[in-house]
Amino acid sequence: MKKKILSAAAALAVIIVAICLVRAAMFKSKQFTAESAAISGVDQRHIAENLSKAIRLRTISHQDPAKFDGPTFLAFHRLLENTFPRVHKTLIRETVSKYGLLYMWKGTDPRRKPILLLGHIDVVPIESGTEKDWTHPPFSGAIADGYIWGRGTLDIKVNVMGTLEAVEYLLASGYRPKETIYLAFGHDEEVSGLNGARKIAALLKERKVSLDYTLDEGGCVIEGAIAGLNAPAALIGIAEKGYLSLEFSVEGEGGHSSMPPRQTTAGILCAAIAKLEKNQFPTRIEGAALQMFRYLGPEMSFANRLVLGNLWLLSGVLKSQLLKSPAMAAGMRTTTAPTMLQGSVKENLLPIKSTAVVNFRLLPGDTMESVIKRAEKTINDKRVKIRALEGGNDPSPVSDTESTSFSTLQKTIHQSFPGAIVSPYLVLGATDSRYYTGVSANVYRFTPLSLKNEDLKRMHGTNERISVANYEQVVKFFIQLIKNSGV
Ligand SMILES: [Zn+2]
Repeated sequence: MKKKILSAAAALAVIIVAICLVRAAMFKSKQFTAESAAISGVDQRHIAENLSKAIRLRTISHQDPAKFDGPTFLAFHRLLENTFPRVHKTLIRETVSKYGLLYMWKGTDPRRKPILLLGHIDVVPIESGTEKDWTHPPFSGAIADGYIWGRGTLDIKVNVMGTLEAVEYLLASGYRPKETIYLAFGHDEEVSGLNGARKIAALLKERKVSLDYTLDEGGCVIEGAIAGLNAPAALIGIAEKGYLSLEFSVEGEGGHSSMPPRQTTAGILCAAIAKLEKNQFPTRIEGAALQMFRYLGPEMSFANRLVLGNLWLLSGVLKSQLLKSPAMAAGMRTTTAPTMLQGSVKENLLPIKSTAVVNFRLLPGDTMESVIKRAEKTINDKRVKIRALEGGNDPSPVSDTESTSFSTLQKTIHQSFPGAIVSPYLVLGATDSRYYTGVSANVYRFTPLSLKNEDLKRMHGTNERISVANYEQVVKFFIQLIKNSGV
């Protein structure tokens, strides 16, 4: 009997291994080739100089609203008017909250759904003390060593200037889009987008605009970021995580620390936070992460294909591997990050009130409400009060990878960046695009930047720059995307 069971088990193992091998071998590529279309007449020097001028205007978003420099933002509007005369003659331009911009290029076919290209005018400040570390001053817009240097070259004046260059170019060539094209540039993305993107989206909603797709910043073409992939990856964000900060507080008696009670408010609070950290949210490979494995898997080595092509059996193996990397773990679960802690203000005083803030980044599928409920259940201590801080938002819906607009985007990437592997992914941060999910069938997050992994720290960091050649690709990408969208 025992022998029979053993041989049946062995046979089953052989079958399972065979299935896995077949699935790995047949893991079908989702990439396709698209002829790169020749776009002539884009003057590399001219567009670089235009971007340089845009960098020189310090359109900074400060955490302190009193530091907002309105006149510089208005100067930025004037720069756009002067640089793109055709755009300002043909498109309808509106200002929203005085500093945000919405352009409409009316299409010839009213039956077609409009599209929306996003960017933001504002940039983050330079961390004080780091100015001297820049090879070229951060607001110089220097064009040197084959690069355009300065704050906003990556995040994300390239989108603002790049889309306008593309429209200016197309207008000069006599192009007229079939579908209406909107361009929207908020002025406060780096500090919430509440007055820019949120208001612009509300305006579109009020006008009953229903967009086919929205394209915002997010992923880019990146080399060396994905282990096991020997080609640049062009990552398209199809969803972004939600955001929630919860304040946990415990109130008690206080008093002198020479006669403490058995448990202080600080002790109770810390036990609660420890429980949250110990009971992490469960990992889930679904939505954007699952799509990513489907797109990247077939392009990887056989060992990787074996695992990624057989998630029905091996998802546990994959999860345990991915959990070793905080970035990968963040793509699979709602994360729990205790950040601010406060107790007594004096070493020999017991805290009357102890508070802690925990920042959660929500995986699509979780909601702010479900996170609060889970925290209550995990802590299971009535003495710990929970309060949600302002500024939270649920995760975005997951956009469709089977839509025409996704394949238009993929085609444009293949044309503009031959050899890059296109893949959906989950955006871990927040972009302006979250406000547009209610007016757009699909929202994608991709900027045609071509970067190496080590360049990522330049965003919001020191020595932000874009190569002149890459900026030309940016402009050509938007020209191509608009043309492809109109097919
Ligand atoms: Zn940005």
